Amino acid sequence: MKNNPSPDTLCAQALGWIEPTTKALVPPVHVATTFERDPDNEYRSGRSYIRNDSPAWDQVEGLVTRLEGGAATLAFASGMAAATAPFLALKPGDHAIAPEVMYWGLRKWLVGPAREWGIAVDFVDLTDPAQVRAAIRPGRTRLVWAETPSNPLWQVFDLGALAEIAHAAGALLAVDSTAATPILTQPIGLGADLVMHAATKYLNGHSDVLAGTLTAARTDAFWERIVAVRTGGGAVLGAFEAWLLLRGMRTLPMRVRHASASALFLAAHLERLPQVAAVLYPGLASHPQHAVAKRQMRGGFGGMLSIRVKGGEAAAIACAAQVKLWKRATSLGGVESLIEHRASIEGAGSPVPGDLLRLSVGLEGAEELLADLQQALEGVGAEA
Ligand SMILES: *Cc1c(COP(=O)(O)O)cnc(C)c1O
Repeated sequence: MKNNPSPDTLCAQALGWIEPTTKALVPPVHVATTFERDPDNEYRSGRSYIRNDSPAWDQVEGLVTRLEGGAATLAFASGMAAATAPFLALKPGDHAIAPEVMYWGLRKWLVGPAREWGIAVDFVDLTDPAQVRAAIRPGRTRLVWAETPSNPLWQVFDLGALAEIAHAAGALLAVDSTAATPILTQPIGLGADLVMHAATKYLNGHSDVLAGTLTAARTDAFWERIVAVRTGGGAVLGAFEAWLLLRGMRTLPMRVRHASASALFLAAHLERLPQVAAVLYPGLASHPQHAVAKRQMRGGFGGMLSIRVKGGEAAAIACAAQVKLWKRATSLGGVESLIEHRASIEGAGSPVPGDLLRLSVGLEGAEELLADLQQALEGVGAEA
């Protein structure tokens, strides 16, 4: 095909690969841990040992690279392994900037092990470019980390503006694009240097694989440091997980668009319910960064939203207790819809309001999802 294939085509055919020896349309599960050396002592296959490189990763990494418009991708054992790799590639004394409210697991790692290893991290309001500029430490800031839309308030950060600030300071912009997926946002096209996905979530989409990816705009010296972090640290993706992930990705565009449409439908209706104090969703005109989201996200605003329930923490927990169709569980991006009282799982020190319920919209009927939430909210109202 001459024209650039759409994400739909790239995903449905997993880049159109055919297994060369059998002509199979689906790749085998490559479980080999070691590869034969040539008689003259060379490794012409380019592969020696699985922790360095495995054919199991080729298609997943190739597909994510194409979807993101990047130069190369590394698959990791988890989203956290992918997210921590750029920080582990920094040097003691280096400084990074991250959002005030962000994916809790990474924030905990940044304020714990990363700081102990000598990486200074400031958490600032990334919606305000002036605050980001003020947080830059000239000569020391190496990385600006943006997660957009961000957990669990679904703030949207202007990646073009952040890239400009980061690059002017000689720093890189890395984006946790888990919630947006490459279907809705391509950060590299907006100036980002690195794009990370918790592939556990939308990329796989079926709540049965732990995986992460990191994509680079360029394969430069810093990327080589990240490759060394994966190879040396060994947080590589297993063969079965890689196979399942590729299978999940074949339907990624359909799933993301469906979830986005349902989330918008739910957000618009929930905003009108008397028991709901606020709906946090970038697709709503009431969202503070709606204009940025409209510019930056194409084809939808994602399947993630949060609601703040009137009556505070007790009312929110009671609402989650009364759903019948939604599943009470953490995580996101799967085919089944999940509801979670976020402050409970984050625990002490969480900046998340107690009245907040995080919703991951799956592929069930949107009307049924709304009706279930509505009866749960009404039940709480009746009890209060
Ligand atoms: C889940 C998640 C991660 C971590 O991914 P794991 O696969 O659980 O390690 C990072 N960022 C975001 C936005 C996530 O939702």
